[in-house]
Amino acid sequence: MSRFVDRVVIHVAAGNGGNGCVSVHREKFKPLGGPDGGNGGNGGNVVLTVDGGVHTLLDFHFRPNAKASGGRQGQGSHRDGAAGEDLELRVPNGTVVLTESGEVLADLVGDGTRFVAARGGRGGLGNAALASKARKAPGFALLGEPGEARDLVLELRSVADVGLVGFPSAGKSSLISVLSAARPKIAEYPFTTLVPNLGVVTAGDSVFTMADVPGLIPGASQGKGLGLDFLRHIERCAVLVHVVDCATYEPGRDPVSDVDALESELARYTPALGDELAARPRVVVLNKIDVPDARELADLVRPEFESRGLPVYAVSTVTREGLPALSYALAAVVEEDRRGRPSAEPARIVLRPSAVDDAGFTVEEDPELPGGFVVRGDRPERWVRQTDFGNDEAVGYLADRLARLGVEEALARGGARPGSPVTIGAVTFDWEPSTPAGIAILMHQRGSDPRLELSHRITAAERKAARRDRRAPGSADNEAGEE
Ligand code: GDP
Ligand code: MG
Repeated sequence: MSRFVDRVVIHVAAGNGGNGCVSVHREKFKPLGGPDGGNGGNGGNVVLTVDGGVHTLLDFHFRPNAKASGGRQGQGSHRDGAAGEDLELRVPNGTVVLTESGEVLADLVGDGTRFVAARGGRGGLGNAALASKARKAPGFALLGEPGEARDLVLELRSVADVGLVGFPSAGKSSLISVLSAARPKIAEYPFTTLVPNLGVVTAGDSVFTMADVPGLIPGASQGKGLGLDFLRHIERCAVLVHVVDCATYEPGRDPVSDVDALESELARYTPALGDELAARPRVVVLNKIDVPDARELADLVRPEFESRGLPVYAVSTVTREGLPALSYALAAVVEEDRRGRPSAEPARIVLRPSAVDDAGFTVEEDPELPGGFVVRGDRPERWVRQTDFGNDEAVGYLADRLARLGVEEALARGGARPGSPVTIGAVTFDWEPSTPAGIAILMHQRGSDPRLELSHRITAAERKAARRDRRAPGSADNEAGEE
């Protein structure tokens, strides 16, 4: 499976936010001025963009890692750090973005459709922005947040107008090459035989695309042949064309049973692909009528298909007999289908559902740490990430924020006792409810407690690693950094 280039796993990493700056305005012969530390810049996003000029996912096969640049740090004199640049990855029309567990995050259809695959970390506020009446000259700033990083699966589901199905050697590839204006670029692929051929057909005023689906053979739904991977390519076709070989001498094969076999195969995929496929119009192409026996057979079976209401075209890709009529008929079905859709190719993105409750938080007993508690929530976790634990004032600011949100109260109600280890994001604290200003949580000082191993201040490296693991995808909030 890993050889299929229409499915790739990529690793995207957005840029980190720049740190805010701590600075105090200074001028010769003047008393110290106010805080003037600028904000850190936001990290760049990694963005997927549909580009009509891109037809494959091959580039990602060779370069699966993408990282956007980080935001710059804030500086004194109110200078904010520059934001990181977004990294644009160009993907083919019809690319579906999934998590590794198979959840669809986005379905990218339509030129220019964009999807933020990894969100850049927010820059931290500088001490100028953190100043308030109560805190005139903050001696700390907020850290920039790490950029989102994750693995994503990209799948290309071709958006061909016409899908060709048929037994091997029925003449599907030949039909595409004689009908299409130009040989598809995709033919230069190292994996040509595994990748559906795509062709662009012009008939009168209409232009449509045609895709060969080489994987559909009897037994495909049980894993024979190329299977479901390639059926994805016909999921969205306006019309399915049965290409039937009328010149084969294989025992047990004839045009009617060939079509029946493939139809029953398609029907088995219905649970996976949905009823839409069953509702697609069908056309039967009886191929190779340049061979005399084949022409006779075509004449013989034509009434059977027509009695089923199927349009029938007898053709030869060698002599080109019957091809103009076929291409005009296909163009008519495609145009009909296009008229039936809201707009030609509307930009369509299925976005992941947003977090249930961005503003809230939960307190739960820690399953890994007896007597411990875990606080979960976008804001408390973000605030911890933004905190410079080497700066007491910054830690105090964090404690203030947590207390105001009601974390202290919730912990008390949840049964936390003085000294209970409390984990928020990647950091574990000792809970200390007796501190003066009602600040419930104090940093536990490393080395002063026998429970060191359980509840130590997590080192920068550990924190970094944990952040990478834990950073929840899609913490889709966009506040500036203050609560
Ligand atoms: P696919 O497996 O369905 O893509 O079939 P191909 O297009 O590769 O064709 C299989 C074989 O059938 C090739 O040897 C073609 O030359 C031959 N073929 C295709 N179309 C015709 C036709 O109209 N007449 C004749 N005589 N042979 C054909
Ligand atoms: Mg072929």
